[in-house]
Amino acid sequence: MAGEPQADCLFCKIVAGDVPATVVHETETTLAFRDINPQAPTHVLVIPRAHYADAASLAEAEPDVAADVVTVAGRVAEQEGAGDSGYRVVFNTGAGAGQTVFHAHAHLLAGRGLNWPPG
Ligand code: AMP
Ligand code: ZN
Repeated sequence: MAGEPQADCLFCKIVAGDVPATVVHETETTLAFRDINPQAPTHVLVIPRAHYADAASLAEAEPDVAADVVTVAGRVAEQEGAGDSGYRVVFNTGAGAGQTVFHAHAHLLAGRGLNWPPG
Protein backbone atom coordinates (compact mmCIF):
# COMPACT_ATOMS: atom_id res chain seq x y z
CA MET A 1 0.00 0.00 0.00
CA ALA A 2 1.18 3.55 -0.69
CA GLY A 3 3.22 4.96 2.14
CA GLU A 4 3.83 1.61 3.86
CA PRO A 5 7.37 0.68 4.99
CA GLN A 6 9.47 -1.19 2.43
CA ALA A 7 11.69 -4.00 3.71
CA ASP A 8 14.57 -3.15 1.36
CA CYS A 9 14.55 0.62 1.98
CA LEU A 10 17.45 2.17 3.92
CA PHE A 11 15.45 5.20 5.08
CA CYS A 12 12.50 3.03 6.23
CA LYS A 13 15.09 1.16 8.33
CA ILE A 14 16.28 4.48 9.81
CA VAL A 15 12.64 5.42 10.60
CA ALA A 16 12.20 2.02 12.28
CA GLY A 17 15.40 2.49 14.29
CA ASP A 18 17.03 -0.56 12.67
CA VAL A 19 19.83 1.55 11.13
CA PRO A 20 21.40 4.27 13.31
CA ALA A 21 21.33 7.94 12.33
CA THR A 22 22.21 11.24 13.97
CA VAL A 23 18.72 12.65 14.34
CA VAL A 24 18.48 16.44 14.66
CA HIS A 25 14.69 16.94 14.49
CA GLU A 26 11.59 14.76 14.73
CA THR A 27 7.87 15.27 14.19
CA GLU A 28 4.95 12.88 13.97
CA THR A 29 5.31 12.78 10.18
CA THR A 30 9.02 13.51 9.55
CA LEU A 31 12.54 12.68 10.62
CA ALA A 32 15.66 14.79 10.03
CA PHE A 33 19.18 13.38 10.37
CA ARG A 34 22.72 14.22 9.28
CA ASP A 35 23.87 12.96 5.89
CA ILE A 36 26.56 10.30 6.27
CA ASN A 37 28.62 11.91 3.48
CA PRO A 38 28.16 15.65 4.06
CA GLN A 39 28.60 18.03 1.12
CA ALA A 40 28.47 21.17 3.29
CA PRO A 41 29.05 22.03 6.97
CA THR A 42 25.31 21.56 7.45
CA HIS A 43 23.94 18.65 5.40
CA VAL A 44 20.74 17.24 6.84
CA LEU A 45 18.22 14.92 5.20
CA VAL A 46 14.55 15.53 5.98
CA ILE A 47 12.34 12.56 5.19
CA PRO A 48 8.68 11.64 5.60
CA ARG A 49 8.22 8.67 7.92
CA ALA A 50 5.97 7.19 5.23
CA HIS A 51 7.63 5.56 2.24
CA TYR A 52 7.27 7.26 -1.15
CA ALA A 53 9.86 6.91 -3.89
CA ASP A 54 10.34 10.63 -4.45
CA ALA A 55 9.13 14.07 -3.44
CA ALA A 56 6.53 14.42 -6.21
CA SER A 57 4.96 11.04 -5.36
CA LEU A 58 4.79 12.10 -1.73
CA ALA A 59 3.19 15.44 -2.62
CA GLU A 60 0.59 13.73 -4.85
CA ALA A 61 -0.41 11.27 -2.12
CA GLU A 62 0.08 13.28 1.08
CA PRO A 63 0.44 17.00 0.36
CA ASP A 64 0.34 17.92 4.06
CA VAL A 65 3.31 15.67 4.76
CA ALA A 66 5.20 17.13 1.78
CA ALA A 67 4.58 20.55 3.33
CA ASP A 68 5.84 19.23 6.68
CA VAL A 69 9.11 18.15 5.02
CA VAL A 70 9.68 21.66 3.64
CA THR A 71 8.65 23.32 6.92
CA VAL A 72 11.05 21.12 8.88
CA ALA A 73 13.87 21.92 6.44
CA GLY A 74 13.35 25.59 7.31
CA ARG A 75 13.22 24.89 11.05
CA VAL A 76 16.42 22.85 10.95
CA ALA A 77 18.09 25.60 8.90
CA GLU A 78 17.18 28.05 11.69
CA GLN A 79 18.36 25.57 14.32
CA GLU A 80 21.70 25.27 12.47
CA GLY A 81 22.10 29.05 12.34
CA ALA A 82 21.55 29.36 8.58
CA GLY A 83 18.27 31.27 8.69
CA ASP A 84 19.92 34.59 7.82
CA SER A 85 22.86 33.52 5.65
CA GLY A 86 20.70 31.27 3.48
CA TYR A 87 20.46 27.62 2.65
CA ARG A 88 19.42 25.26 -0.12
CA VAL A 89 16.73 22.58 -0.12
CA VAL A 90 17.14 19.98 -2.87
CA PHE A 91 15.03 17.02 -3.96
CA ASN A 92 17.10 14.88 -6.32
CA THR A 93 14.54 12.97 -8.37
CA GLY A 94 15.57 10.05 -10.55
CA ALA A 95 18.92 8.35 -11.04
CA GLY A 96 19.94 10.87 -13.73
CA ALA A 97 19.64 13.66 -11.17
CA GLY A 98 21.71 11.79 -8.58
CA GLN A 99 18.93 10.12 -6.57
CA THR A 100 20.37 6.99 -4.96
CA VAL A 101 17.88 6.34 -2.16
CA PHE A 102 14.33 5.93 -3.43
CA HIS A 103 12.56 7.13 -0.29
CA ALA A 104 11.63 10.81 -0.64
CA HIS A 105 14.09 13.15 1.07
CA ALA A 106 15.02 16.80 1.10
CA HIS A 107 18.70 17.69 1.31
CA LEU A 108 19.23 20.77 3.48
CA LEU A 109 22.62 22.31 2.64
CA ALA A 110 24.11 25.31 4.43
CA GLY A 111 27.20 26.72 6.06
CA ARG A 112 29.22 27.55 2.94
CA GLY A 113 28.75 29.49 -0.28
CA LEU A 114 26.42 27.60 -2.63
CA ASN A 115 26.92 28.10 -6.36
CA TRP A 116 24.09 28.52 -8.83
CA PRO A 117 23.37 26.63 -10.99
CA PRO A 118 24.34 23.48 -9.06
CA GLY A 119 26.30 20.78 -10.86
P1 AMP B 1 20.30 11.07 -2.99
O1 AMP B 1 21.60 10.75 -3.69
O2 AMP B 1 19.68 12.37 -3.33
O3 AMP B 1 19.32 9.89 -3.12
O4 AMP B 1 20.66 11.19 -1.44
C1 AMP B 1 20.88 10.09 -0.62
C2 AMP B 1 21.77 10.60 0.49
O5 AMP B 1 21.73 9.65 1.55
C3 AMP B 1 23.25 10.75 0.10
O6 AMP B 1 23.63 12.12 0.27
C4 AMP B 1 23.98 9.81 1.06
O7 AMP B 1 25.20 10.34 1.51
C5 AMP B 1 22.97 9.68 2.19
N1 AMP B 1 23.06 8.46 2.97
C6 AMP B 1 23.25 7.20 2.51
N2 AMP B 1 23.24 6.32 3.54
C7 AMP B 1 23.05 7.06 4.67
C8 AMP B 1 22.95 6.74 6.06
N3 AMP B 1 23.04 5.48 6.51
N4 AMP B 1 22.77 7.75 6.95
C9 AMP B 1 22.69 9.03 6.50
N5 AMP B 1 22.75 9.39 5.21
C10 AMP B 1 22.94 8.43 4.31
ZN1 ZN C 1 11.41 3.87 2.61
